[in-house]
Amino acid sequence: MVADKADVNANDQNDKLDVLKSTQKVVKKALDKLGYPNEVYDLLKEPVRMMTVRIPVRMDDDSIKIFTGFRAQHNDAVGPTKGGVRFHPNVSEKEVKALSIWMSLKAGIVDLPYGGGKGGIVCDPRDMSFRELEGVSRGYVRAISQIVGPTKDIPAPDVFTNSQIMAWMMDEYSRIDEFNNPGFITGKPLVLGGSHGRESATAKGVTICIEEAAKKKGIQIEGARVVVQGFGNAGSFLAKFMHDKGANVVGISDAHGGLHDPDGLDIDYLLDRRDSFGTVTNLFKNTITNQELLELDCDILVPAAIENQITEENAGKIKADIVVEAANGPTTLEATKILSDRGILLVPDVLASAGGVTVSYFEWVQNNQGYYWTEEEVEEKLHKVIVKGFDNVFRTAENRRVDMRLAAYMVGVRKMAEASRFRGWI
Ligand code: GLU
Repeated sequence: MVADKADVNANDQNDKLDVLKSTQKVVKKALDKLGYPNEVYDLLKEPVRMMTVRIPVRMDDDSIKIFTGFRAQHNDAVGPTKGGVRFHPNVSEKEVKALSIWMSLKAGIVDLPYGGGKGGIVCDPRDMSFRELEGVSRGYVRAISQIVGPTKDIPAPDVFTNSQIMAWMMDEYSRIDEFNNPGFITGKPLVLGGSHGRESATAKGVTICIEEAAKKKGIQIEGARVVVQGFGNAGSFLAKFMHDKGANVVGISDAHGGLHDPDGLDIDYLLDRRDSFGTVTNLFKNTITNQELLELDCDILVPAAIENQITEENAGKIKADIVVEAANGPTTLEATKILSDRGILLVPDVLASAGGVTVSYFEWVQNNQGYYWTEEEVEEKLHKVIVKGFDNVFRTAENRRVDMRLAAYMVGVRKMAEASRFRGWI
């Protein structure tokens, strides 16, 4: 049977938006550039371990609902695996696998003693009560308890999960393990062994990358026009940090739409009015679409929402000089090439959003030693780590004449490949 041309085009389109396939493509390119044999790619193209679980939860109306969850452990040659757990209706096995590879790359770029892991539960916390969320969180930990732990795989927050959910998960794990075990999970509340600066760490890391990228482009942060897509944990803190540094945040958005003011938005007011899921634009009449937001006239664009936002359709219309990816996977590979050809400096997700896992590492270290650091200590250490990661990636891009995404992957895979080789796996 001959495939219809429309079918071929549709498949081609699906492939471009398939985050696992695109990640694998760049991992392969990075390993080829570094001269590794094909077995290394065969090992690294998929997680070493992937668990699917079914979680029964008694809902508030007394019915029992079965939720599906995943935990992917990409590569544990360097150390235990590490990465967040997301609660979202669109969570899929493929997405969790890709996200676990990205976590390995982040850990490699900022040189943490971890491999990457990721988890997800298919659910919509916006429609669930506190009690139901607690049931899902505890049920998930019971289901994956055998493959996680402070020296095996350490979960953390991600999309629509927060410190309360981490607290329930830590409590459940401590009950199973029969002793108080704060190092099992990071992103906990401060009173349960959380770290100063963890909540805003992703945005802090993005801010540091923006400052470094702006230096390269000769752009002053003070007065620079910034657009932020997404007003969740990363986007909202980032808008605040940029505003406090004197930048002009001219656009922000949430899942429903965007707000634009060329004179600068009142960020403190918007932060005050946003709900816990980052929704705020529903309070306004004159909104723009998320697509219009991405194409606004600005100096710095920060996609801080979801995957596949900058594609070959709109990459030619982006007006920013710098694009810094605070979200995981917001730019497709085709769009990455268009932006790079247009001379736009793209700071890729695996570098730009590594601040979260870096402070998670600090939290785990503090839990292990039982000695806690001040906010200033955390900030200073984070700054050093991110600047070093940025320099490494930027230098690799220049020296090897590759775009910043490929350079980041080259830096990110190297340690994992070497550790796997030393262990005699490949
Ligand atoms: N979920 C965050 C990320 O994607 C943080 C992971 C962690 O802290 O372990 O990087």
